[in-house]
Amino acid sequence: MTSVFLIDVDNTLLDNDRAKADVAQAIGALVGPDRASRFWSLYEEVRDECGVVDYPETLRRFRRAFPDEKRLSEVDRAVLDVPFERYLYPRALDVIARLWQRGEPAILSDGDRVYQPMKIARAGLLLALRGNVVVYEHKEDHLAEVQRRFPADRYAHIDDKAELLALTKASLGARVTTVHVRQGRYADEAAGGAPPDIVVDRIADLLALDL
Ligand SMILES: [Mg+2]
Repeated sequence: MTSVFLIDVDNTLLDNDRAKADVAQAIGALVGPDRASRFWSLYEEVRDECGVVDYPETLRRFRRAFPDEKRLSEVDRAVLDVPFERYLYPRALDVIARLWQRGEPAILSDGDRVYQPMKIARAGLLLALRGNVVVYEHKEDHLAEVQRRFPADRYAHIDDKAELLALTKASLGARVTTVHVRQGRYADEAAGGAPPDIVVDRIADLLALDL
């Protein structure tokens, strides 16, 4: 019997809340609070329009808003050169190594087509997953495609968003085990639908489970 483990990235394998806070601090130090606050309103504007966080587009709009800003290229660097390998949760790579012993792990992540794959590679996850990485703007809309790309008898979906786990459960039913990792700012967000099959507080807790 083949098993595929579908693993989310942000706030599941990688502390994206902390990465974002560090980026925010760096931008504030570079351009001051007013322009920094404009940066984050552009970030939200892009997220509303595109339905997904898009840093490259946010940077384009920031540049357009403040063409006179002397530290624009440093702002670019602060956003584009985040050392994401430093933001992996403790033992995240050990969990992936363990899942390779049990079946085939794959990253199933939400995000834009440029920054998110770059983040995954930079964090060392592309290598750890041996290229098994798919990124969609809304991954819940692509479960059929995901099953074609990673055919299996059994799936596990590991995610910090209970809402996404409930959607996977609704579509794959008894063929999937859903695992809620209660990390980051969505950890306590209420979700409709089926409750997760397994709940853990930290990704490292998966080392103690026999999935
Ligand atoms: Mg997430």
